[in-house]
Amino acid sequence: MSKIKAAFFSFTSCEGCQLTVLTLEEQLLELVELIDIVTFREAMSEKSDVYDLAIVEGSISRNSEITQVKKIRDTAKVVVALGACATIGGVNCLKNQYEMDAVKKIVYGSMADNFDTIPARPIEAVIKVDYKIHGCPIDKDEFVEVVKAILQERKPRIPEYSVCVECQMKENICLFEKGMVCLGPITRAGCKAICPTYNDGCVGCRGLIDDPNVSSHKKLLTDHGLTIDEAIAKYMLFGSYNKNA
Ligand code: SF4
Ligand code: SF4
Ligand code: SF4
Repeated sequence: MSKIKAAFFSFTSCEGCQLTVLTLEEQLLELVELIDIVTFREAMSEKSDVYDLAIVEGSISRNSEITQVKKIRDTAKVVVALGACATIGGVNCLKNQYEMDAVKKIVYGSMADNFDTIPARPIEAVIKVDYKIHGCPIDKDEFVEVVKAILQERKPRIPEYSVCVECQMKENICLFEKGMVCLGPITRAGCKAICPTYNDGCVGCRGLIDDPNVSSHKKLLTDHGLTIDEAIAKYMLFGSYNKNA
């Protein structure tokens, strides 16, 4: 039986999620027994325009990227959005609150007219996405789970509950008790609550859970003498594309 051909692509991103895939080591060797990686610029020089599975990292922030990602969708049977830039727009969308001409001048100075830039967006804003692997960066185990689920033609087992569940399973002291803001109650779990475990509030890199209880989160903030503006400031780091959520 021929193996599924998989191609990795990267748009506007730091490529940290692809790097995370490369650190899988033994699990990656097991995966290449099952899939044939035909394009992966961060790991190999060969490339191919023939593939079944496209794993796409990064947000879309240039007109040329719109054309490229549509071509990927036309070619692949299955498209996976890899990491927060691709799934929710991520940190790249911070620029969207400014005029694009002003952004270009800040970044490129007198060369600004040579560069194309548009408000950043997740890839799902341009093409249909079949699977999402959340986080900045992604969780290695979740990557393996999603790829296995695709090969086995089943739904991947991805948490649909909040970061608080994982945090409480670790018996962490809640950061609200320390007077800190945390977005754990409204953010999708799967990162093993790594930020609150290391005494840092969750900033929502895995995106919102499907039905976030925002009013309960607001009450939690005010009950602890914290402001909604403080929570919104944290949310905007990763959630600014979805700022009206
Ligand atoms: S989600 Fe984070 S780690 Fe992944 S490419 Fe974007 S900025 Fe980099
Ligand atoms: S620290 Fe954050 S993630 Fe942990 S229980 Fe408190 S609100 Fe939830
Ligand atoms: S705790 Fe929140 S910000 Fe930190 S990795 Fe998990 S989802 Fe992302």
